[in-house]
Amino acid sequence: MNYISTRGVAPDLTFEQAMLTGLARDGGLYVPSEVPAMSTGEIAALANLPYEEVAFRIMRPYLGDTFTDDEFREIIAKAYAGFGHAARAPLVQLGAGHFLLELFHGPTLAFKDFAMQLIGQLFQTSLTRSGDRVTIVGATSGDTGSAAIEAFKGLDAVDVFILFPHGRVSEVQRRQMTTPSEGNVHALSLTGHFDDCQAKVKDMFNDFAFRDEVKLAGVNSINWARVLAQVVYYFTSAVALGAPHRKVSFTVPTGNFGDIFAGYIARKMGLPIDKLVVATNQNDILHRCLSTGRYIPDGVIPSISPSMDIQVSSNFERVLFDAYGRDGSAVSQLMDELKGGGFTVSQGALEHLQALFLSGRASEEETSATIARLRETTGELLCPHSAVGAKVAEDHLDPAVPMITLATAHPAKFPDAVEAATGIRPALPPRMADLFDRDERVTRVENDLAEIEQFIRGNITN
Ligand SMILES: *Cc1c(COP(=O)(O)O)cnc(C)c1O
Repeated sequence: MNYISTRGVAPDLTFEQAMLTGLARDGGLYVPSEVPAMSTGEIAALANLPYEEVAFRIMRPYLGDTFTDDEFREIIAKAYAGFGHAARAPLVQLGAGHFLLELFHGPTLAFKDFAMQLIGQLFQTSLTRSGDRVTIVGATSGDTGSAAIEAFKGLDAVDVFILFPHGRVSEVQRRQMTTPSEGNVHALSLTGHFDDCQAKVKDMFNDFAFRDEVKLAGVNSINWARVLAQVVYYFTSAVALGAPHRKVSFTVPTGNFGDIFAGYIARKMGLPIDKLVVATNQNDILHRCLSTGRYIPDGVIPSISPSMDIQVSSNFERVLFDAYGRDGSAVSQLMDELKGGGFTVSQGALEHLQALFLSGRASEEETSATIARLRETTGELLCPHSAVGAKVAEDHLDPAVPMITLATAHPAKFPDAVEAATGIRPALPPRMADLFDRDERVTRVENDLAEIEQFIRGNITN
């Protein structure tokens, strides 16, 4: 299987190349040339298997000959060994026909661990074999950076530098980035906003001399390997509720469209998903686009679900590519229009999208009220992102089809919003209860490219 760019110009790549490259050279995103189908019998056979075995069966067809079966099994085993729940992604029930898929039992308490832990092991195995090394740089508003540092710490083929906006991430998120002591991971606290961090990362990739010198690589949410890792829990949860003999629906708290795109892939592979619902907070560009066809960014308003505060939802390009019949030049044109302020999806493409996705938004008040109400009626404490999902899911319940809402972070990762809604300050799981006692290691940097590049040059390990 090859990987092709959504802009139709960059060369086709293997799985390994697409994983190590991230963004295509024509600015596009890599997608598989075809999506492998699973038969009803193959899906039914997933019932009651360990998470790792399902992960192997779902992802194996996408890898080509990048890894042997034994290598890949070992990669998966290492990736999920550090999770705090034997089921990895357990389901709990919220109400009649409504279930919560807990994706927050990984080492940094957010669903991003599912993809990042796997990609850490994929990189390490691939680079060890080739004798190469890379330097990963990333910008974060909190969850991606902590997941990346946790996934790559101590791996000898990789150095990691994460830029986060000084004073603008939660204390739990900061400590998750600053307390790992391994010498190959570095948290850089930058004077500025998240957008400044992201701009600096972009500048480094555009500084070709620097990029080649330190062998820059990226692991942001457009990396295909990250999407692939997220396909697995759609299968484990749907099968637990009776698929393929019964349909299920999903509601997904959405920002960059990576998580829900994985659900779209699961359905393409043959999983009988009825509704796939995009849930947004007050930054509702995706909900507006799916309703009207107009994709026009108009400024992020900070919310209590900050990991969904997005302007430009990068993975949306992947589904646009399919909606436009895999016409890379049409996608290129939309992305050019986006630079000029926005675009309108064609009528045909909009109908295609509306047949695939439903959508809804939850206001700040609705999100807080949902956290409080579910605490009372179920005893569950939801993080604000998961609560956005639960609220939108409730608007789409159908007595005939179970609904699964993805819980994307642990409530203790966003304790202020949860406490404001319920009066209860959620506790960290026992295995990380000492987070606030651990020593922090962080480098303060100015919003200055030369200074940041100099720091990276001086701190790469080989
Ligand atoms: C990243 C994140 C999201 C959004 O996921 P996307 O794949 O970007 O749509 C939602 N909730 C939490 C807690 C996150 O960290």
